[in-house]
Amino acid sequence: MRYAFAGLYVAMILALLACVVVARRSYKKIKGAVAMQVGMTIPPVIGNLIIVLSTSYLPAKLGCYVYFIGMDAFIMALLHFTFQYCVIKWPSQKLHFLVYGVITLDVVQYLLNPIFHHAFDIEAVLVDGENYYRVVPYFGQAYHRAVVYALFFAVLIIFVVKIVKSPKVYTERYSVILITIVITALWQTYYIFSRTPIDRSMTGYGVFGLLIFYFALYYRPLTLLDRLLANMASDMPDAIFFYDADGRCIWANQPAIDLAGIKDEAFDKTSELLTAKFGTKEDFDKSEWECTQVLGSGSAAEYYYQSKRTVRDEKGLVTGSFITIRDITKEQRALQQERYNATHDSLTGLFTKEYLYECIRKRLDKDTQKAYLILYIDILNFKLVNDVFGSSFGDVALKQIAGFLREKNSKSGVFGRLGGDTFGLCIPKNEFNEQELETSLSHFNINDGQIDHNIIIHIGVYEVVDRSMKISIMFDRALMAMRTIQDEYQRHIAFYDDKMRKEVIWAQQISAQLMDAVKNRDVVPYLQPIVDGNGKIVGAEALTRWIHLEEGFLAPGSFIPVFEKNGMITEIDRYMWRCACEILSTWEKEGRDLFISVNISPKDFYFMDVKAEIQNLVKEFGVTPSKLRIEITETVMMTDVENRMKMIDELRDAGFIVEMDDFGSGYSSLNLLKDMPVDVLKIDMKFLTKTADDTKARTILQNIINLSDDLGISSLTEGVETKPQLEMLSEMGCKLFQGYYFAKPMPLAEFEEFWKSNRA
Ligand code: C2E
Ligand code: MG
Ligand code: MG
Repeated sequence: MRYAFAGLYVAMILALLACVVVARRSYKKIKGAVAMQVGMTIPPVIGNLIIVLSTSYLPAKLGCYVYFIGMDAFIMALLHFTFQYCVIKWPSQKLHFLVYGVITLDVVQYLLNPIFHHAFDIEAVLVDGENYYRVVPYFGQAYHRAVVYALFFAVLIIFVVKIVKSPKVYTERYSVILITIVITALWQTYYIFSRTPIDRSMTGYGVFGLLIFYFALYYRPLTLLDRLLANMASDMPDAIFFYDADGRCIWANQPAIDLAGIKDEAFDKTSELLTAKFGTKEDFDKSEWECTQVLGSGSAAEYYYQSKRTVRDEKGLVTGSFITIRDITKEQRALQQERYNATHDSLTGLFTKEYLYECIRKRLDKDTQKAYLILYIDILNFKLVNDVFGSSFGDVALKQIAGFLREKNSKSGVFGRLGGDTFGLCIPKNEFNEQELETSLSHFNINDGQIDHNIIIHIGVYEVVDRSMKISIMFDRALMAMRTIQDEYQRHIAFYDDKMRKEVIWAQQISAQLMDAVKNRDVVPYLQPIVDGNGKIVGAEALTRWIHLEEGFLAPGSFIPVFEKNGMITEIDRYMWRCACEILSTWEKEGRDLFISVNISPKDFYFMDVKAEIQNLVKEFGVTPSKLRIEITETVMMTDVENRMKMIDELRDAGFIVEMDDFGSGYSSLNLLKDMPVDVLKIDMKFLTKTADDTKARTILQNIINLSDDLGISSLTEGVETKPQLEMLSEMGCKLFQGYYFAKPMPLAEFEEFWKSNRA
């Protein structure tokens, strides 16, 4: 029997040691307390092992010391474990020290026992003819028992309180430990009072250590889990239906009951109810599936995400399944709204530029057989519409144009808003009716209920030739076409062609080169003589020429319009005026009485202070103002009339001579002439010779000359090419002439030669 118990204890010690090692490796927070608790179970067991094995007095007594002091360590560890496991703190530091002091005192009194023999002794008993030792308790032993029982009792109380106070689902967590402790305590008590020679209670301690190890670290309280899972399932916002292995619904949570309309917990009706609501599902009997189902359509559509999962046991047999259904209508609507907002313009509801490009791309890639047109649609002077009628009227205009696009193209066109006042459209070529569109655009009125205003819409059209081209480039080309008519009121539609592209490229090229050309003096003034009635040169007009590095000699016709459009004309003009002043200053120094006329573009007035610029130049070069003649055209007077007139007056007051260039070419009216503060009228023969009826032209010319004479304005005819022309003009009273009949524009050096020979 001795060895049987010894073997049992050794096995127990090894098992406990293993538990300590494993516990220390656990990831749980309680692992330290568990390891200590299990570890401290070992010394009492060792003590008992020694006692059991002892056949003589001394080793048996030593065993007792190990056992009792080990017991103190055990109880200390149990306290520590209890506090950790129950997540409580010592009520006061004093109590904490008192308790540990009481235990320490117990250890001390055992250590003093060899001297005072007050705690215990041992006596031998014969069992089956063998010597066993058991304890003979004295006063000190009573203290030990009191301490151990009191603390044991305290631990029990703690667990009981914990069980009572915690939510029901946690009871099991504490109960298992409490029961373990109670059984161990009873086991121990039984031994003490039975006074058997072998302390069987130790087996109880060993088992206690192992149980603590298991319950604290590995045991999952199933009722707790069950409750938690059940609560979770009930509280889930998703509808959940639980089915048994035979496919019968056994339970559903509240959202599920509401969704399916289950009454009185009649869960067996669930399948029928779900089929009635969602229809039959092909793969319903499959063990796993998921899908999003839409009920209804349009804005009333409801969206449900559904899934089925099957649960199997360890052998792979189906134990049941559950279906979850989530109403995702809100999320779907929000998502759709978000998608809509990202792809649609908020004002007009049309596609945004990016989305339009995307849709056109798809259309062109899909419908490869049809020819398509890309239209760039722009409102003329939209800013003005906004400024004059208010931005709310502007908004109405944009919405009405959007409505117009919808009405005309809802069938097969793709359209959207490209930006502020521009729209884009892609339609099959065979559906584009230019005539009809031109007609509807010719009287496009915007009406907001109060104001009725006609707006001009311009459309640039590009025919898609190369489908792989970027959509943005297609629109660039349509825009290019639109720009060619953007100042026009009569035409609304312009088509892109390659010439247009070349022009644009040309414009870009020369615009990039202009500054360098001016700096390198590749741009030069040519002078065309102006003569009086006797053929004497009285002055010259400075006309610009560009000796282009690659293109060679360029007449103004090929670059002036480009720069007039983009405003770079000011660079040329400023430079030309400077050249004119330079020449005039040398002429003046040499005493030559010649003037130079320079051209001023209407755009100059937008981009610089013409008056200040010219005045500074004559000052800088010391030129007499009357020697620099200024040629303006009627278009200068088309806008901001008052200020322009004022400026011209000021220039004249400063001594400059102002000439009206190209009179007869544009909207010239004789009426205008009487208000125009100019000194000279330049009449262009070119325009007159265009008039088929010669006598009519003659009459007009005569009248212009007469009128200007009456108004004190002298007349100069340019474009004189023949002698009869000259004679006729002289007869009519014209004083000055310019034209190929005398000389073409020429470089300065040549002009000087020409002048010298003319004088001779
Ligand atoms: P413009 O100011 O009316 O200049 C007269 C144009 O008529 C010049 O053409 C000249 O060469 C041309 N011309 C002169 N006599 C005759 C003739 O007998 N028959 C014909 N058929 N043409 C004649 P050019 O030099 O090609 O200049 C064209 C236009 O370019 C000018 O018309 C002017 O409006 C503009 N321009 C020229 N240089 C400048 C400049 O430096 N600045 C600005 N803003 N415009 C300029
Ligand atoms: Mg001119
Ligand atoms: Mg002219």
